[in-house]
Amino acid sequence: GCTISGLHKSYGDVEVLKGIDLDVEPGQVVCLIGPSGSGKSTLLRCVNLLEQPNAGTITVAGFDATDPDVELNSLRRHVGMVFQAFNLFPHLTVLENCTISQRRVLHRGKAEAETIAVDRLTKVGLADLADRYPDQLSGGQQQRVAIARALAMDPNLMLFDEPTSALDPETVGDVLQVMRRLAEAGMTMVVVTHEMEFARQVADRVVFMDGGVVVEEGPAKDVIGNPQHERTKHFLSRVL
Ligand code: ATP
Ligand code: MG
Repeated sequence: GCTISGLHKSYGDVEVLKGIDLDVEPGQVVCLIGPSGSGKSTLLRCVNLLEQPNAGTITVAGFDATDPDVELNSLRRHVGMVFQAFNLFPHLTVLENCTISQRRVLHRGKAEAETIAVDRLTKVGLADLADRYPDQLSGGQQQRVAIARALAMDPNLMLFDEPTSALDPETVGDVLQVMRRLAEAGMTMVVVTHEMEFARQVADRVVFMDGGVVVEEGPAKDVIGNPQHERTKHFLSRVL
């Protein structure tokens, strides 16, 4: 799980996160929605310390991420992150993309790392493409490799930042299907998405952010189906 409390983040004089509290229970799927610039990506980036928070605490997988002595590597190996752009290593095959961090960070041997990589690639339906290079794959296939690569590290928490926003419409469904199966298998997930249908079907909770604060949160059927706040209603009227 992951517990965030009183999280503040500023860039220079501009406060982007103004005191965020968020609790993600083990096995829960939380979808984070909100307008552009509301701080969704910044929040995810604080959780695995791609950004340093200014105040507040984040506990993830038993680590206090805001402890100055926390080891970045030990924290990050427990937190998988999938971005809008796939960020695969272009000069490595699909299989190598899924083994390199296992070997370098977890110090797994080649055979073990490859066995795990093939298992995770099977889970995303791509084991038969293990020898290809990223530029020989569709965007959706690349994104599924990025998910397999993150899963190969055995994360406790998976963060997704608009994983389907950059994809051709016809490949979006496969990626969402992989994420849906991951959720059903009990993975703890925080997903920034504009896919309201996915949020409605998969999220245990939906969190609506605006202006660096959580405006409204609750079960998807409430937040999406029957929003209480004007800002939530306004946002949903534009994306639904
Ligand atoms: P989007 O839906 O467009 O991805 P978002 O909700 O993810 O938006 P963030 O990317 O978290 O929003 O950005 C929140 C605010 O912080 C924005 O005003 C943005 O311009 C600002 N910001 C983000 N990163 C930086 C940075 N490295 N330096 C300065 N300002 C930044
Ligand atoms: Mg963003």
